[in-house]
Amino acid sequence: MTNKVDTTTLPKVTLHEHIEGTVTPEMAAKLAQRHHVTLPDNFVMAEGQYDKKDFPNGRYAYDESDFWAFINTYDSVADMMRTPQDYYDVTKDYLSKNAAEGGVYAELIISPAHMAMEVNPETGKSELSAARYRAMMDAIAKAAQEVKEETGLETRFIATGVRNLGAENVKQVAEFIRDNPHSMVTGFGIAGNERAGEFDDFAEALAIAKGAGLKLALHAGEIRGPESIKDAIRLGASRIGHGVSAPQDPEVMKMLAEKNIMVEVCPTSNRILVTDLKGDLANHPARILYDAGVRISLNPDDAGIFGTHTGKEHRISAEKFGFTKAEMMDITLCAIENSFADVKTRKQLKENVYKKMSEEDRKELRDLAANAKNPVLKKRLETRVAESEKVAKKLEIQKRRTKALNSIKATKMAIINKKSATR
Ligand SMILES: [Zn+2]
Repeated sequence: MTNKVDTTTLPKVTLHEHIEGTVTPEMAAKLAQRHHVTLPDNFVMAEGQYDKKDFPNGRYAYDESDFWAFINTYDSVADMMRTPQDYYDVTKDYLSKNAAEGGVYAELIISPAHMAMEVNPETGKSELSAARYRAMMDAIAKAAQEVKEETGLETRFIATGVRNLGAENVKQVAEFIRDNPHSMVTGFGIAGNERAGEFDDFAEALAIAKGAGLKLALHAGEIRGPESIKDAIRLGASRIGHGVSAPQDPEVMKMLAEKNIMVEVCPTSNRILVTDLKGDLANHPARILYDAGVRISLNPDDAGIFGTHTGKEHRISAEKFGFTKAEMMDITLCAIENSFADVKTRKQLKENVYKKMSEEDRKELRDLAANAKNPVLKKRLETRVAESEKVAKKLEIQKRRTKALNSIKATKMAIINKKSATR
């Protein structure tokens, strides 16, 4: 499917991106040099071996059909993120690039079991260290704050437990996050190998996180079937990471739509890692999810490792799933509404998106709402139409007021000039 939507100018939101996965080949080389790590010769592709236009930030050389080759690359990169300076550099690099391609809001997934582990000199055991976590978070938050000042991009963080490290480990991470709150950490997640354990094993950890006021974004339905999505919803997820298998169960689709639970779609990542898609995005259910009223957002998952970025995922989605401009704007607005930012920030971000809409965009939105078949989708789009018109009216009043004020100012100036001329 081809679509002529120019996605470059669209405001974009990223809700599913692992901080260690953002590392580009260029950044990996920098970290390797800093830590005196020798990367294998064939770790990244040499210039000329790939299309620089499609991979502006470089390309790793692992075989995309080999899951373990991907994991090895990810682990090698993550292993080089050791100091607060590393986290600062990586965050700054990623968020600056995100803002440059129209990013208005981003959530990054952080893993305390990776970044906050330290050997306790008394016990000799590796454990979660509050001091180390604080130092890392300070560095990350500083980078995010600087990018916000430079570009306006808002950022929050989701602390995640790693499923394959076991339920006890994830519970410890949840307790650790509860005991070491940070104003920019607003969500809790579960990532890692989906086949490790059942969601109920993590119920205690999730209850702790919810009790600490964190919203839940859980990886589910990527490798496993729709029952894993059902479990995630039952345990309080407001967002599902991947959710590719959702359409296999109509009941799950209905639950997602009616409960306003978002599916964080990661097209490139799913194409590479989800065997059911057979390496072809034509088999991806993003369009099916959207048409069934399910809120979706478009994400890179591991931008650096997959050689992608939020802008590219938006372009791919418009092309492959045939999303129109109005649908893409709705997707951005859904992502803002389902983000883990505070109410005031979400309201402001939404208004900014509406302000960017032209009369033509609003007309396209009205047509989209009129033609929508799914009742949940139709209702949402009708709300979008009303909201967009409200903001347009507000802008019009502001414009008229400024014009009137300017004309009063001009008249006053003319009188003053006249008086001084006759004096
Ligand atoms: Zn992920």
